[in-house]
Amino acid sequence: MSAWCSDDYEPLVIHKGEGVHVFDDLGNQYIDGNSSIWTNLHGHNEKRINAAINEQLKKVSHVSFLGTTNEPAILLAEKLVHLFPQNSLNRVFYTDDGSTSIECAMKMAIQYYQIINQPLRNKFIAFDNAYHGDTFGAASIGGINKFFSRFNHLGLPTLKLSSSKDLESLDANEIAAVVIEPKVQGAAGIRLWPDGMLKKIRRWCDENEVLLILDEVMTGFGRTGKMFACEHENVLPDLLCLAKGLSGGYLPLAATMVKESIFEAFLGGEETTFYYGHSYSGNPLGCAAALASLNIFEEDKVLKKLESKIECLKTGLSELKYKNPLISEVRQIGLISGIEISSELGIIGPDICHLARNYGLLTRSIGNVIVFMPPLIIDENQIYESLNAIESAIIEYQGN
Ligand code: PLP
Repeated sequence: MSAWCSDDYEPLVIHKGEGVHVFDDLGNQYIDGNSSIWTNLHGHNEKRINAAINEQLKKVSHVSFLGTTNEPAILLAEKLVHLFPQNSLNRVFYTDDGSTSIECAMKMAIQYYQIINQPLRNKFIAFDNAYHGDTFGAASIGGINKFFSRFNHLGLPTLKLSSSKDLESLDANEIAAVVIEPKVQGAAGIRLWPDGMLKKIRRWCDENEVLLILDEVMTGFGRTGKMFACEHENVLPDLLCLAKGLSGGYLPLAATMVKESIFEAFLGGEETTFYYGHSYSGNPLGCAAALASLNIFEEDKVLKKLESKIECLKTGLSELKYKNPLISEVRQIGLISGIEISSELGIIGPDICHLARNYGLLTRSIGNVIVFMPPLIIDENQIYESLNAIESAIIEYQGN
């Protein structure tokens, strides 16, 4: 705080974006190496998304979602449902951002068990180092001590596990749901879960009548190489949270998708009403952007084109590690990667990211893990350019 507030601190002011690049107010160009905090998919200033938002602007920018609906929201819900196997996640509840999509899933889980006369099921299972957002419910299942330890004890009752093995010794009677970031924990520093873990958790949930909430806020929409990370293990959750890339990274929009059986439990009338809504839920501009983004996936065969980019990133990361003894580990799933700098020199990730700007890459580190998670539109040359920027930044840091 004090560094940011000091008189000589000069914030980087982003002035415009074009494709994979953003430009500051001095005209410097950077590759958007963290997809503008893990949101952007098809690049900035994407003409089809711009056009969709413009078309919607001419009709209406916002209307209440309490008791009324709007065309883009209806069409988007239909499209989202069709991204999953038939009769699986049939229902869509809109919110504003990742945190509120989680908040909403957690409240649904608790209320669901109250409705079906199992009110004691009101606890959550989450994981060490998890990040599900900063609102209170989401924070109470968060596992990054630096962010959440002040608040955890004031939030919803949650058991924190370190792996799926911990489930084996657990009494599930009071558990409403397990919440997890599938395949990879993002804010923990791009930490990959072991293969097969999701399947194990799904099995345990089924055996113990516990709901499974998957947080695909970061992993959704192609980032891991598949449309959704849960597809890597053919696992379907009972509730699924989406945000960030949902609107292509253009506007705040989120959705909590639910199974029909959960939806039906809420149909009883006043007693079972789910009293939850935000002013901007189902915002038509956001939904129009999201529809355009999903169309681009089809038109541009985005997932197919990702395959070679993911391979290129894999090769580039291993070359980078090979050449730089300062790098202790590289981790990757799809176009999500973390480059971990050895901690011998203390926390230097932020300094290296700062230096990388001089070589045309804008990204952020999490401690000593440099996150490289570019928009899906990035090409192979730009991947190499980005990794070279990180290498040059490390070399410059060592020279200083
Ligand atoms: N869940 C995950 C996995 C996230 O990575 C994030 C944000 O980084 C969130 C939830 C919270 O999303 P938001 O910042 O949109 O509230």
